[in-house]
Order: sequence, then C-alpha cells, then structure tokens
Amino acid sequence: MKLFGTNGVRGIANEYMTPQMVMDIVRSFGTFMGNKGTVAIGRDTRISGEMLKAAAIAGALSSGLTVIDVGIGPTPSIQYYVRHHADAGIVITASHNPREYNGIKLIDGDGTEISREDEKKIEQIYFTKEFKSAPWQYTGDLRHDLNANDLYIKGIINAINADVVREKKFKIIADTGCGAGSLTLPFLLRQLGCEVISINAQVDGTFPSRNPEPTPDVLTQLSELVIKEKADMGVAHDGDADRAVFFDENGKFIDEEVLLAMMAKYVLEQKKGTIVTPVSSSQRMLDIAKEANVDLIWTAVGSINVARKMMELKAVFGGEGNGGLIFPEHQYCRDGAMSCAKLLEIMASGKKLSEMAMSVPVYFNSKTKVECHEPKKIVEKIKEDIILKNIKVDTTDGVKIWYEDGWVLIRPSGTEPIIRIFAESRTKERAMELMNEGVQVVKNYG
Ligand code: MG
Repeated sequence: MKLFGTNGVRGIANEYMTPQMVMDIVRSFGTFMGNKGTVAIGRDTRISGEMLKAAAIAGALSSGLTVIDVGIGPTPSIQYYVRHHADAGIVITASHNPREYNGIKLIDGDGTEISREDEKKIEQIYFTKEFKSAPWQYTGDLRHDLNANDLYIKGIINAINADVVREKKFKIIADTGCGAGSLTLPFLLRQLGCEVISINAQVDGTFPSRNPEPTPDVLTQLSELVIKEKADMGVAHDGDADRAVFFDENGKFIDEEVLLAMMAKYVLEQKKGTIVTPVSSSQRMLDIAKEANVDLIWTAVGSINVARKMMELKAVFGGEGNGGLIFPEHQYCRDGAMSCAKLLEIMASGKKLSEMAMSVPVYFNSKTKVECHEPKKIVEKIKEDIILKNIKVDTTDGVKIWYEDGWVLIRPSGTEPIIRIFAESRTKERAMELMNEGVQVVKNYG
C-alpha cells in the first residue's frame, strides 16, 4: 500500500483527507522523529485548512513534539522557517489541486521535503499503526509565531541584488489567486520598489475567482491588465505559491518550459555549474547546458528528486517545467516568489521579458495518456525490450527514447491506471508523430 504521491498526500477534504488521517500521518511522523524535537506547522488558504491543521497539531503534541503554529503561508515560506527555526515541518496544502482538495507535506529539518526513503518508513508506521504516544507529562507544548512570512520575504531580498531592482520601479500585476501567496508576493514586490496592482489577493479558500492551478485560460484578467496598465510583467501563483507563472510586457503567457530554460541561461551567465531537471523537461535545458559547457543531470519526476540531486551535486540551478524553480542561494525547494524576484533582477539589467523568452531555442511538445490495467508492469517490459535493442534510452523514470530530432517519454502514473506519453521535437508535426509512436509502443504491450 502507498500513502505518499509525487508531492505528499492529497485527496478530497473530509472524505479522503480526514482529521483522523492527518492525525495518524503526523503521529507516524512523530514516532519516526523519535518522539522529540520541534515541528513548525502551517497551511495554505483552503477552507478545510484550519480543521486539518488542528488535527496535525494534536497528532504532533500527542507524539511529544513541541509545535510552532506558523499560521497561513506559502509552502516555501514554511520550508524557509523550518530550516532556520525547527527540526521538521508540516504543511497542510493541496498546492494547485481544485478547491475541494487538501493534503499534507512533511518537511525535513533542512527545509527540503522528506526523502522517498523516509516516506517509506513513515508509511510503514502509518499502515501498521505502530505510533508511539508520549506519556501524559511529556505531551508537547504549542507556541505561535506569525513572523514566518516576513522572514521569508527578507530572505528573498537578501538572496538577490535588490538595489538594482528598486532603481527600476517596475510596474507589476500580481494574481495570487486567493491563495497563500496573497500574504507574501504583493508585500515582497512593494519592498522591491515595484508599483503593484494585486488581484485575487484576499485570502479565501473558496477560490471565488479561479482554480488554484495557474493555467493561462484562467488568467485572462491578469493578461488584460498587463496590457491595459502597460505593466512590465504579470505574475500568478498556484494555491501554495511554490510555483509562479509569468506574462510578458505584451500580456503574453510565457510557457513554463521556456521560463525554466531562460532562467537556467541567465543563472549560467552569472555562475557556471551543474543544472538539474526531471526527465520530463524540455530539451531546451540540454541546449542551454551545452551552450554554457556545463553538465545537465536528469532526475526522476518530482521536485524532491530535483532538490536532493541539486544538494548532492552543489548545482547552481534546477527546476521543473511547471513553474517550479529552485534557487540554491535561497533554499532547496520550489519557490514562486523567489522566481519572481530573480526575474526582476534579470529585467533590471535592461532585458524585456519577451526578449528573454525569445532567447531560448524553440521546441514543440505533445502529450497524451493511455489507459491500462498495470501501467508499471507494462513500462517495465518496454524498458527491458528497448534496452536489448540498443536504442539511446534513459530509464531514470519510465522510458525516455532519444531520437536525432527529439524524444518521447513513456511513464506510468503513480496513482492512476494510466501511462503518460510526452514527446518533443523541433516541429509540431514531428512532436505529434513521436507521441503517436509512443502510444503505439504502449498499445503493442497493453
Ligand atoms: Mg504548489
């Protein structure tokens, strides 16, 4: 049985994600921690957040941990707090999932998400219900600290060249989607000397204006405002603000794979070093790494894999092609507000966002999914056969087949009975063709 998905545990609040479940996960975490230490607990803006946070606090106190309740904040803000002030962290969040969802993320003492190995140990305690409770006289203390978001904002300002940004007095439209970033992004931008127009910045877990996932189709208001107000940039967060997406000065959405590559390009212009990204990311990253003459390391999908590999290799930059970028000079986790601040730093050198986006190679992507009963088994079989055929293939996560002019990735879903197929090439037609070849391979085995 499996509890953790790619990014923590998630489900519909009070149906799947019940207070009982959260309490048991946290008691398992407390037992794993040896029933001692300090844990910071915070949440995003979801309606069910307070209920589940209360369950998490009760579980941690019952395990004998000291709890610091840090209130509402972005996931990276809570991670930043943990690294400086606690031995572990718990975030009640369902990130970009729809309104009715909630979830839980466990954070290590260094501020990164806990490793896959530790997840397995906690899962084991959870399923066998071998929680250890503290004797009555050692149940934990509860404290409150509402400074986490301020500390986080200060941390970002210290990690970039804030003075050059302030001089430019950028005009920015920020859509925080009523999520946790509403408490940080507008304030960070003002402290960076920007003129900020905020929309959807009231904390509201019903997410009245848009779903927490920041896709271009729900961000038309933001795009229109950028044009109308002649702003330099539009920025939007997902529900827990570990991701950020951007619109250029013409109100045009910047594809997240382009964002990842252009950020890598800029970071490498400043500082040479290894960069890290999952196998599902664009070949643009490879082109950028080759151009800068540095190593690119491909990891399994999931930000934790990217973050941990970056720590291991002391990489200068990494991230995923979904707006989740990681800057080691601030912290080893996806960080939406840091991405925004870093972009402003680049723009302060005189580059427009549209120019930056055009400076990376052009590729086209196609993706689809095929339903099947045993996705993992099928992909394993494909892997075995393809390795025998001596084709250029990467099996870090699923099967990625490299061609002269592109690639196709065949990957089983961890949670659903489907296999996902991603392809990329220099033309739309070829990307489609590679995707269809991938579908054919899967069907031959299914
Ligand atoms: Mg998120």
